[in-house]
Amino acid sequence: MTEAVDDLVLVINSGSSSIKYQLLDPDSGTVTAAGMVDRIGEDNAGIEHKADGETTERREAIADHRAGLRLIFDTFAETGHDLSNAGVRAVGHRVVHGGEVFYRPTLIDDSVVEAISDLSALAPLHNPANVAGIESARQLLPDVPQVAVFDTAFFHGLPDAAKTYAIDAKVAAAHGIRKYGFHGTSHEYVSGQVAELLGRDPARLNQIVFHLGNGASASAIRGGRPIDTSMGLTPLEGLVMGTRSGDLDPGIIAHLVRSADYDIDQVDRLLNRDSGLKGLSGVNDFRELRGLIDKGDAAARLAYDVYIHRLRRYLGAYLIDLGGVDAITFTAGVGENSPDVRADALAGLSRFGIEVDPAANAAKDRTARRISPPDAKVVVLVVPTNEELAIARAAHRVAETEK
Ligand code: AMP
Repeated sequence: MTEAVDDLVLVINSGSSSIKYQLLDPDSGTVTAAGMVDRIGEDNAGIEHKADGETTERREAIADHRAGLRLIFDTFAETGHDLSNAGVRAVGHRVVHGGEVFYRPTLIDDSVVEAISDLSALAPLHNPANVAGIESARQLLPDVPQVAVFDTAFFHGLPDAAKTYAIDAKVAAAHGIRKYGFHGTSHEYVSGQVAELLGRDPARLNQIVFHLGNGASASAIRGGRPIDTSMGLTPLEGLVMGTRSGDLDPGIIAHLVRSADYDIDQVDRLLNRDSGLKGLSGVNDFRELRGLIDKGDAAARLAYDVYIHRLRRYLGAYLIDLGGVDAITFTAGVGENSPDVRADALAGLSRFGIEVDPAANAAKDRTARRISPPDAKVVVLVVPTNEELAIARAAHRVAETEK
């Protein structure tokens, strides 16, 4: 069966060794099919594809992103959704780094691909993978508009004082060193949902958003525009994450190089892959961390305490930056599913009007909801993020305006 999918958008999120994808309706958010190709470049690569309530799995060697995307298209066809004939309206690509160049969803042509590729020095793991996904999708669906949606775009207009690192200005200028911020699609989507949910004009809301997944970031948003965010030149800065350190004394790097003979790849690996919750406790998954804490594991407890301590530091900073906050929102895997993190992050702050209602916080509810008491000055919310939907909507919008 091949159905008409006239107004659907295919969203592609290419990582260094994976491709996640969704085919969805940008209006309703209804997902026709979704899946992931993983372990690209390895012999035991494969695909998991979900459509019409059924899961198709296949393991086989996948040489590169092109082969991965080919497999995705073949799997769509085999499961009754032939993408090349079905009139997909647009393809939306998540692109991690837009640098100073891209600050809105952008229709892709050769020069855009080249510019994204040129930004690879700023995101060496991500942008090349994004380019590979884009090039393959353009070959497979040559007549469909392809749109790049940048993770950095929402933060493009950060105030100078927030985006500037206090290093030699000439060095910074020569190498594009500034705070770019990431998870922008999520922060923009979630803060927009909050305004809608509260029935308030976004222009009159001060918000703090915590995107707490494997990667984690916080943002301070005034009148719908971010005034600061925790990630920086790269997604390493800021909060404690699954495997990333977040903020640290940069002197640690010189110390490791001088005293422990680290080279730059070892430093990179330590801070990006072997730090954060994993570095402190051995596990990067929050559910496993919770299990260890419940068994009395002291390292896991400390990892959790460091995680919360960092969260509260950003909360305090943003509270002051904003001069008061109307809404604090938690999103992504940990933010949506971990009531203890939400309660501990905001504990003891009633004098600032910040309170969490224990019953509302503990409720197992997957929808956007308020978890502060009705009379609290600051509204605390849990809002599921949906980056795919935000990308699909942006891609659809660009495709329609470029008609
Ligand atoms: P994300 O990057 O948004 O997919 O989030 C991944 C993180 O969310 C991992 O640390 C997971 O352990 C965590 N997570 C997912 N589901 C739950 C859950 N039910 N309870 C606690 N943490 C969760």
